[in-house]
Amino acid sequence: MNVDLLINNVCLEDGEPLKDIAIDAGRIVAIESGIEARATETIDAAGRAAVPGFVEPHMHLDKAMLHRRLPARFGTLEEAIRVTGILKGKQKRTDVLERSRAVLDAAVRNGTVAIRAHPDVDLIQGLIGVETLLELRDEYEDLLDLQIVAFPQEGILKSAGTLDLMERAMRLGADVVGGCPYNELNWSDTKAHIDAVFALAQRHDAPIDMHVDFSDEPSDQRFAATSYIARKTLETDWRGRVSLGHVTSLGALKPDELQPIIELLHKADISVVTLPATDLYLGGRQDASNPRRGLTPVKALYQGGVNVAYSSNNIRNAFTPFGNADMLVIGNMLAHVAQFGTPEHQLAILQMGTRNAASAIGMERDYGIAVGKQADLVILDTYKVADVLLDIPPRAWVVKRGRVTVVTRHECHIHRHCCGHATVSNHTDSQP
Ligand SMILES: [Zn+2]
Repeated sequence: MNVDLLINNVCLEDGEPLKDIAIDAGRIVAIESGIEARATETIDAAGRAAVPGFVEPHMHLDKAMLHRRLPARFGTLEEAIRVTGILKGKQKRTDVLERSRAVLDAAVRNGTVAIRAHPDVDLIQGLIGVETLLELRDEYEDLLDLQIVAFPQEGILKSAGTLDLMERAMRLGADVVGGCPYNELNWSDTKAHIDAVFALAQRHDAPIDMHVDFSDEPSDQRFAATSYIARKTLETDWRGRVSLGHVTSLGALKPDELQPIIELLHKADISVVTLPATDLYLGGRQDASNPRRGLTPVKALYQGGVNVAYSSNNIRNAFTPFGNADMLVIGNMLAHVAQFGTPEHQLAILQMGTRNAASAIGMERDYGIAVGKQADLVILDTYKVADVLLDIPPRAWVVKRGRVTVVTRHECHIHRHCCGHATVSNHTDSQP
Protein backbone atom coordinates (compact mmCIF):
# COMPACT_ATOMS: atom_id res chain seq x y z
CA MET A 1 0.00 0.00 0.00
CA ASN A 2 1.26 3.51 -0.89
CA VAL A 3 -0.10 6.39 1.17
CA ASP A 4 0.54 10.10 1.63
CA LEU A 5 0.93 10.05 5.40
CA LEU A 6 1.50 7.30 7.93
CA ILE A 7 1.18 8.04 11.65
CA ASN A 8 2.77 5.33 13.78
CA ASN A 9 2.16 4.43 17.43
CA VAL A 10 -0.68 6.70 18.39
CA CYS A 11 -2.93 6.30 21.44
CA LEU A 12 -6.60 6.57 20.38
CA GLU A 13 -8.09 4.84 23.43
CA ASP A 14 -6.49 4.55 26.84
CA GLY A 15 -5.58 0.98 27.79
CA GLU A 16 -5.80 -0.26 24.18
CA PRO A 17 -2.79 -1.14 21.99
CA LEU A 18 -1.22 1.76 20.08
CA LYS A 19 -2.42 2.16 16.49
CA ASP A 20 -1.05 3.31 13.15
CA ILE A 21 -3.17 5.59 10.97
CA ALA A 22 -2.75 5.54 7.19
CA ILE A 23 -3.95 8.62 5.33
CA ASP A 24 -4.29 9.07 1.60
CA ALA A 25 -5.87 11.78 -0.56
CA GLY A 26 -6.99 13.60 2.59
CA ARG A 27 -8.81 10.62 4.09
CA ILE A 28 -8.13 7.98 6.70
CA VAL A 29 -7.72 4.70 4.81
CA ALA A 30 -6.65 2.37 7.63
CA ILE A 31 -6.38 2.27 11.43
CA GLU A 32 -4.57 -0.81 12.71
CA SER A 33 -1.57 -1.89 14.72
CA GLY A 34 1.53 -2.40 12.57
CA ILE A 35 0.36 -1.11 9.17
CA GLU A 36 2.74 -2.06 6.38
CA ALA A 37 2.72 0.84 3.92
CA ARG A 38 5.06 3.01 1.92
CA ALA A 39 4.36 6.62 2.88
CA THR A 40 5.48 9.96 1.46
CA GLU A 41 5.60 11.29 5.01
CA THR A 42 5.79 9.43 8.31
CA ILE A 43 5.19 10.61 11.88
CA ASP A 44 6.21 8.55 14.88
CA ALA A 45 3.79 9.61 17.60
CA ALA A 46 5.70 7.39 20.08
CA GLY A 47 2.60 6.63 22.10
CA ARG A 48 1.18 10.15 22.21
CA ALA A 49 -2.59 10.64 22.31
CA ALA A 50 -4.61 11.83 19.32
CA VAL A 51 -8.09 13.31 19.15
CA PRO A 52 -10.15 14.58 16.21
CA GLY A 53 -9.34 18.21 15.36
CA PHE A 54 -10.99 20.80 17.58
CA VAL A 55 -14.00 22.70 16.26
CA GLU A 56 -14.93 26.23 17.36
CA PRO A 57 -18.67 26.43 16.64
CA HIS A 58 -18.97 30.09 17.70
CA MET A 59 -16.37 32.83 17.22
CA HIS A 60 -16.25 36.56 16.45
CA LEU A 61 -13.21 37.40 14.36
CA ASP A 62 -14.22 40.89 13.21
CA LYS A 63 -14.47 42.07 16.84
CA ALA A 64 -11.43 40.20 18.19
CA MET A 65 -8.34 41.86 19.68
CA LEU A 66 -10.01 45.24 20.32
CA HIS A 67 -9.37 45.06 24.08
CA ARG A 68 -6.84 47.89 24.32
CA ARG A 69 -8.55 50.38 22.02
CA LEU A 70 -11.56 51.20 24.19
CA PRO A 71 -11.61 49.03 27.31
CA ALA A 72 -14.95 48.40 28.98
CA ARG A 73 -15.18 49.53 32.63
CA PHE A 74 -18.30 47.87 34.05
CA GLY A 75 -18.32 44.49 32.37
CA THR A 76 -21.99 44.28 31.44
CA LEU A 77 -23.46 42.98 28.18
CA GLU A 78 -25.01 46.39 27.39
CA GLU A 79 -21.66 48.12 27.83
CA ALA A 80 -19.88 45.53 25.68
CA ILE A 81 -22.36 46.03 22.83
CA ARG A 82 -22.11 49.84 23.17
CA VAL A 83 -18.30 50.04 23.39
CA THR A 84 -17.83 47.60 20.53
CA GLY A 85 -20.42 49.53 18.52
CA ILE A 86 -18.26 52.66 18.75
CA LEU A 87 -15.21 50.74 17.47
CA LYS A 88 -17.24 48.99 14.77
CA GLY A 89 -18.08 52.34 13.23
CA LYS A 90 -14.38 52.82 12.43
CA GLN A 91 -13.66 49.32 11.10
CA LYS A 92 -11.09 49.24 8.31
CA ARG A 93 -10.75 46.26 6.04
CA THR A 94 -6.98 45.74 6.51
CA ASP A 95 -7.30 46.07 10.28
CA VAL A 96 -10.16 43.53 10.43
CA LEU A 97 -8.13 41.15 8.28
CA GLU A 98 -5.06 41.53 10.46
CA ARG A 99 -6.89 40.93 13.75
CA SER A 100 -8.83 38.02 12.26
CA ARG A 101 -5.62 36.40 11.03
CA ALA A 102 -4.06 36.69 14.49
CA VAL A 103 -6.97 34.67 15.91
CA LEU A 104 -7.07 32.17 13.04
CA ASP A 105 -3.31 31.53 13.30
CA ALA A 106 -3.64 30.93 17.04
CA ALA A 107 -6.58 28.58 16.47
CA VAL A 108 -4.65 26.59 13.86
CA ARG A 109 -1.64 26.30 16.18
CA ASN A 110 -3.97 25.05 18.91
CA GLY A 111 -5.34 22.24 16.77
CA THR A 112 -8.60 23.76 15.58
CA VAL A 113 -9.66 22.46 12.16
CA ALA A 114 -12.99 24.26 11.71
CA ILE A 115 -14.54 27.53 12.87
CA ARG A 116 -18.05 28.91 12.53
CA ALA A 117 -17.55 32.69 12.61
CA HIS A 118 -20.31 35.17 13.45
CA PRO A 119 -19.41 38.52 11.83
CA ASP A 120 -21.72 41.42 12.70
CA VAL A 121 -24.04 42.38 9.86
CA ASP A 122 -25.55 45.77 10.65
CA LEU A 123 -25.79 49.40 9.60
CA ILE A 124 -22.71 50.30 11.65
CA GLN A 125 -20.11 48.17 9.90
CA GLY A 126 -22.15 46.95 6.94
CA LEU A 127 -20.78 43.80 5.35
CA ILE A 128 -17.09 44.30 6.16
CA GLY A 129 -17.09 41.32 8.56
CA VAL A 130 -18.64 39.01 5.96
CA GLU A 131 -16.44 40.26 3.11
CA THR A 132 -13.21 39.86 5.06
CA LEU A 133 -14.23 36.35 6.12
CA LEU A 134 -15.01 35.38 2.53
CA GLU A 135 -11.43 36.38 1.70
CA LEU A 136 -10.04 34.51 4.73
CA ARG A 137 -12.11 31.41 3.93
CA ASP A 138 -10.05 31.04 0.70
CA GLU A 139 -6.79 32.13 2.30
CA TYR A 140 -7.06 29.54 5.10
CA GLU A 141 -8.61 26.79 3.00
CA ASP A 142 -5.71 24.37 3.59
CA LEU A 143 -5.59 25.07 7.34
CA LEU A 144 -9.19 25.07 8.50
CA ASP A 145 -12.80 25.15 7.34
CA LEU A 146 -14.52 28.48 7.90
CA GLN A 147 -18.27 28.89 8.04
CA ILE A 148 -19.78 32.37 7.95
CA VAL A 149 -22.90 33.41 9.85
CA ALA A 150 -24.79 36.59 8.94
CA PHE A 151 -25.18 37.87 12.51
CA PRO A 152 -27.48 40.84 13.30
CA GLN A 153 -25.89 41.90 16.63
CA GLU A 154 -27.80 45.21 16.67
CA GLY A 155 -31.21 43.61 16.12
CA ILE A 156 -33.36 43.32 13.00
CA LEU A 157 -36.54 45.27 13.78
CA LYS A 158 -34.68 47.73 15.98
CA SER A 159 -32.30 48.50 13.13
CA ALA A 160 -34.27 48.84 9.89
CA GLY A 161 -32.32 47.77 6.83
CA THR A 162 -30.46 44.97 8.60
CA LEU A 163 -32.57 42.22 7.05
CA ASP A 164 -31.66 43.45 3.55
CA LEU A 165 -28.00 43.36 4.54
CA MET A 166 -28.41 39.80 5.83
CA GLU A 167 -30.02 38.83 2.54
CA ARG A 168 -27.04 40.34 0.71
CA ALA A 169 -24.61 38.51 3.01
CA MET A 170 -26.29 35.20 2.17
CA ARG A 171 -26.09 35.96 -1.56
CA LEU A 172 -22.41 36.88 -1.20
CA GLY A 173 -21.68 33.47 0.26
CA ALA A 174 -22.47 33.42 3.98
CA ASP A 175 -23.41 29.87 5.01
CA VAL A 176 -25.64 30.35 8.04
CA VAL A 177 -28.43 32.74 9.11
CA GLY A 178 -27.65 34.28 12.50
CA GLY A 179 -29.90 35.98 15.01
CA CYS A 180 -29.84 38.06 18.16
CA PRO A 181 -33.50 38.14 19.16
CA TYR A 182 -32.90 39.52 22.68
CA ASN A 183 -31.62 42.77 21.18
CA GLU A 184 -35.10 44.09 20.27
CA LEU A 185 -37.38 46.52 22.08
CA ASN A 186 -40.08 44.06 23.23
CA TRP A 187 -41.20 40.44 23.12
CA SER A 188 -43.35 40.90 20.05
CA ASP A 189 -40.32 42.24 18.12
CA THR A 190 -38.21 39.39 19.49
CA LYS A 191 -40.69 36.91 18.00
CA ALA A 192 -40.76 38.82 14.71
CA HIS A 193 -36.93 38.73 14.68
CA ILE A 194 -36.97 34.94 15.10
CA ASP A 195 -39.63 34.56 12.39
CA ALA A 196 -37.54 36.70 10.00
CA VAL A 197 -34.47 34.53 10.69
CA PHE A 198 -36.39 31.33 9.90
CA ALA A 199 -37.90 32.85 6.74
CA LEU A 200 -34.46 33.91 5.49
CA ALA A 201 -33.02 30.47 6.30
CA GLN A 202 -35.86 28.81 4.40
CA ARG A 203 -35.31 31.04 1.36
CA HIS A 204 -31.62 30.07 1.28
CA ASP A 205 -32.04 26.51 2.57
CA ALA A 206 -29.47 27.40 5.23
CA PRO A 207 -28.87 26.41 8.85
CA ILE A 208 -29.63 28.82 11.71
CA ASP A 209 -27.35 29.88 14.56
CA MET A 210 -28.65 32.47 17.04
CA HIS A 211 -27.42 34.24 20.17
CA VAL A 212 -30.26 33.57 22.58
CA ASP A 213 -31.45 34.17 26.16
CA PHE A 214 -28.21 35.81 27.21
CA SER A 215 -29.20 36.96 30.70
CA ASP A 216 -28.92 35.82 34.31
CA GLU A 217 -32.63 35.12 34.49
CA PRO A 218 -35.67 34.93 32.20
CA SER A 219 -38.14 37.44 33.74
CA ASP A 220 -37.84 39.68 30.66
CA GLN A 221 -39.35 37.54 27.95
CA ARG A 222 -36.89 38.76 25.31
CA PHE A 223 -34.41 36.61 27.23
CA ALA A 224 -36.71 33.58 27.37
CA ALA A 225 -37.10 32.70 23.70
CA THR A 226 -35.74 29.14 23.64
CA SER A 227 -39.14 27.37 23.71
CA TYR A 228 -40.50 29.62 20.97
CA ILE A 229 -37.45 28.81 18.81
CA ALA A 230 -37.74 25.07 19.50
CA ARG A 231 -41.42 25.04 18.51
CA LYS A 232 -40.64 27.06 15.38
CA THR A 233 -37.88 24.55 14.52
CA LEU A 234 -40.39 21.69 14.74
CA GLU A 235 -43.04 23.58 12.74
CA THR A 236 -40.65 24.41 9.91
CA ASP A 237 -38.97 20.99 10.11
CA TRP A 238 -35.56 22.64 10.62
CA ARG A 239 -34.59 19.84 13.03
CA GLY A 240 -30.84 19.30 13.31
CA ARG A 241 -30.13 22.63 11.59
CA VAL A 242 -30.48 25.04 14.50
CA SER A 243 -27.78 25.96 17.03
CA LEU A 244 -28.19 28.37 19.93
CA GLY A 245 -25.36 30.20 21.68
CA HIS A 246 -25.30 31.34 25.36
CA VAL A 247 -28.85 30.31 26.47
CA THR A 248 -27.75 31.32 29.96
CA SER A 249 -31.12 32.33 31.43
CA LEU A 250 -32.08 28.63 31.42
CA GLY A 251 -29.60 28.30 34.27
CA ALA A 252 -31.98 30.22 36.55
CA LEU A 253 -34.95 27.87 36.04
CA LYS A 254 -36.13 25.36 38.60
CA PRO A 255 -35.88 21.71 37.48
CA ASP A 256 -39.62 21.39 36.77
CA GLU A 257 -39.55 24.57 34.64
CA LEU A 258 -36.38 23.52 32.85
CA GLN A 259 -37.32 19.92 32.02
CA PRO A 260 -40.03 20.67 29.40
CA ILE A 261 -37.65 23.07 27.62
CA ILE A 262 -34.90 20.45 27.55
CA GLU A 263 -37.37 17.94 26.11
CA LEU A 264 -38.36 20.44 23.41
CA LEU A 265 -34.69 21.15 22.55
CA HIS A 266 -34.03 17.43 22.31
CA LYS A 267 -37.10 16.82 20.16
CA ALA A 268 -36.15 19.69 17.84
CA ASP A 269 -32.56 18.38 17.67
CA ILE A 270 -31.20 21.82 18.55
CA SER A 271 -27.54 22.17 19.58
CA VAL A 272 -26.68 24.39 22.53
CA VAL A 273 -23.28 26.09 22.36
CA THR A 274 -22.10 27.27 25.76
CA LEU A 275 -19.60 30.14 25.78
CA PRO A 276 -18.18 30.00 29.30
CA ALA A 277 -15.48 32.66 28.97
CA THR A 278 -17.98 35.37 28.00
CA ASP A 279 -20.84 34.06 30.11
CA LEU A 280 -18.74 33.97 33.28
CA TYR A 281 -17.25 37.37 32.62
CA LEU A 282 -20.49 39.22 31.83
CA GLY A 283 -22.89 37.21 33.99
CA GLY A 284 -23.96 37.90 37.58
CA ARG A 285 -22.78 41.53 37.44
CA GLN A 286 -25.70 42.81 39.53
CA ASP A 287 -25.17 40.24 42.27
CA ALA A 288 -23.60 41.89 45.33
CA SER A 289 -23.14 38.51 47.00
CA ASN A 290 -23.14 34.92 45.76
CA PRO A 291 -22.69 36.04 42.12
CA ARG A 292 -24.30 33.67 39.67
CA ARG A 293 -22.15 31.64 37.30
CA GLY A 294 -24.39 32.70 34.46
CA LEU A 295 -23.91 29.50 32.51
CA THR A 296 -26.49 27.47 30.63
CA PRO A 297 -27.38 24.33 32.67
CA VAL A 298 -24.78 22.16 30.94
CA LYS A 299 -25.30 19.09 33.09
CA ALA A 300 -29.09 19.01 32.78
CA LEU A 301 -28.90 19.57 29.00
CA TYR A 302 -26.27 16.83 28.67
CA GLN A 303 -28.31 14.42 30.77
CA GLY A 304 -31.39 15.29 28.71
CA GLY A 305 -29.65 14.16 25.52
CA VAL A 306 -29.23 17.65 24.02
CA ASN A 307 -26.15 18.11 21.83
CA VAL A 308 -24.03 20.47 23.93
CA ALA A 309 -20.87 22.04 22.50
CA TYR A 310 -18.65 24.87 23.68
CA SER A 311 -16.57 27.59 22.04
CA SER A 312 -14.31 30.60 22.68
CA ASN A 313 -16.80 33.20 21.37
CA ASN A 314 -14.85 36.46 21.73
CA ILE A 315 -11.09 36.86 21.94
CA ARG A 316 -9.89 39.94 23.82
CA ASN A 317 -12.60 42.57 23.55
CA ALA A 318 -15.26 44.18 25.73
CA PHE A 319 -17.29 40.95 25.80
CA THR A 320 -14.31 38.82 26.86
CA PRO A 321 -11.01 40.56 27.67
CA PHE A 322 -9.10 37.25 27.59
CA GLY A 323 -8.63 34.33 25.22
CA ASN A 324 -6.06 32.47 23.14
CA ALA A 325 -8.34 30.65 20.72
CA ASP A 326 -7.48 27.44 22.55
CA MET A 327 -10.35 24.97 22.84
CA LEU A 328 -8.55 23.04 25.58
CA VAL A 329 -8.27 26.12 27.80
CA ILE A 330 -12.00 26.81 27.41
CA GLY A 331 -12.84 23.13 27.88
CA ASN A 332 -10.81 22.99 31.07
CA MET A 333 -12.60 26.11 32.36
CA LEU A 334 -15.99 24.63 31.43
CA ALA A 335 -15.20 21.39 33.25
CA HIS A 336 -14.58 23.37 36.45
CA VAL A 337 -17.58 25.66 36.18
CA ALA A 338 -20.08 23.03 35.05
CA GLN A 339 -18.59 20.61 37.61
CA PHE A 340 -17.78 17.90 35.07
CA GLY A 341 -15.06 16.15 37.03
CA THR A 342 -15.65 12.38 36.88
CA PRO A 343 -13.67 10.47 34.21
CA GLU A 344 -16.87 10.11 32.12
CA HIS A 345 -17.66 13.81 32.45
CA GLN A 346 -14.10 14.84 31.53
CA LEU A 347 -14.37 12.75 28.38
CA ALA A 348 -17.75 14.35 27.68
CA ILE A 349 -16.16 17.80 27.82
CA LEU A 350 -13.51 16.71 25.31
CA GLN A 351 -16.33 15.51 23.03
CA MET A 352 -18.16 18.85 23.43
CA GLY A 353 -15.13 20.53 21.82
CA THR A 354 -14.73 17.94 19.09
CA ARG A 355 -17.57 15.61 18.01
CA ASN A 356 -20.47 17.63 19.46
CA ALA A 357 -19.05 20.89 18.11
CA ALA A 358 -18.70 19.33 14.65
CA SER A 359 -22.30 18.21 14.91
CA ALA A 360 -23.44 21.70 16.02
CA ILE A 361 -22.09 23.14 12.76
CA GLY A 362 -23.31 20.32 10.54
CA MET A 363 -19.98 18.68 9.69
CA GLU A 364 -20.43 15.43 11.64
CA ARG A 365 -20.74 13.15 8.59
CA ASP A 366 -17.11 13.49 7.57
CA TYR A 367 -15.68 13.96 11.05
CA GLY A 368 -13.83 11.72 13.49
CA ILE A 369 -10.84 9.38 13.62
CA ALA A 370 -12.33 6.47 11.65
CA VAL A 371 -11.68 4.82 8.29
CA GLY A 372 -13.25 6.79 5.44
CA LYS A 373 -13.41 10.07 7.33
CA GLN A 374 -11.55 13.24 6.41
CA ALA A 375 -8.15 13.22 8.13
CA ASP A 376 -8.47 16.17 10.56
CA LEU A 377 -6.72 15.33 13.80
CA VAL A 378 -4.38 16.49 16.54
CA ILE A 379 -1.57 14.54 18.16
CA LEU A 380 -0.87 15.96 21.59
CA ASP A 381 2.25 15.89 23.68
CA THR A 382 0.72 13.61 26.31
CA TYR A 383 0.24 9.86 26.49
CA LYS A 384 -3.36 9.31 27.61
CA VAL A 385 -6.54 10.62 26.00
CA ALA A 386 -7.83 11.18 29.54
CA ASP A 387 -4.93 13.59 30.22
CA VAL A 388 -5.58 15.84 27.21
CA LEU A 389 -8.06 18.08 29.04
CA LEU A 390 -5.96 18.14 32.22
CA ASP A 391 -2.50 18.71 30.75
CA ILE A 392 -3.54 21.15 27.99
CA PRO A 393 -0.41 19.82 26.27
CA PRO A 394 1.39 21.29 23.23
CA ARG A 395 -0.24 20.24 19.97
CA ALA A 396 2.70 18.20 18.65
CA TRP A 397 1.23 17.68 15.17
CA VAL A 398 -1.95 18.99 13.60
CA VAL A 399 -3.29 17.31 10.47
CA LYS A 400 -5.89 18.97 8.24
CA ARG A 401 -7.29 17.04 5.26
CA GLY A 402 -4.34 14.68 5.47
CA ARG A 403 -1.70 17.41 5.43
CA VAL A 404 0.53 18.22 8.40
CA THR A 405 -0.23 21.88 9.13
CA VAL A 406 1.48 22.40 12.50
CA VAL A 407 4.54 20.87 14.14
CA THR A 408 5.31 21.99 17.69
CA ARG A 409 8.58 21.03 19.27
CA HIS A 410 8.56 21.48 22.97
CA GLU A 411 11.60 21.06 25.14
CA CYS A 412 11.65 21.68 28.83
CA HIS A 413 14.64 20.91 30.98
CA ILE A 414 14.65 21.35 34.72
CA HIS A 415 18.17 21.51 36.03
CA ARG A 416 18.37 20.64 39.67
CA HIS A 417 21.41 21.75 41.60
CA CYS A 418 22.65 20.22 44.83
CA CYS A 419 22.08 23.56 46.60
CA GLY A 420 18.33 23.17 45.99
CA HIS A 421 18.00 25.88 43.32
CA ALA A 422 16.47 24.90 39.99
CA THR A 423 16.78 26.48 36.57
CA VAL A 424 14.02 25.83 34.05
CA SER A 425 14.58 26.35 30.37
CA ASN A 426 11.54 26.15 28.18
CA HIS A 427 11.27 26.32 24.46
CA THR A 428 8.24 25.98 22.25
CA ASP A 429 8.54 26.30 18.52
CA SER A 430 5.33 26.12 16.54
CA GLN A 431 4.96 26.49 12.80
CA PRO A 432 1.57 26.56 11.12
ZN1 LIG B 1 -21.21 35.34 20.14
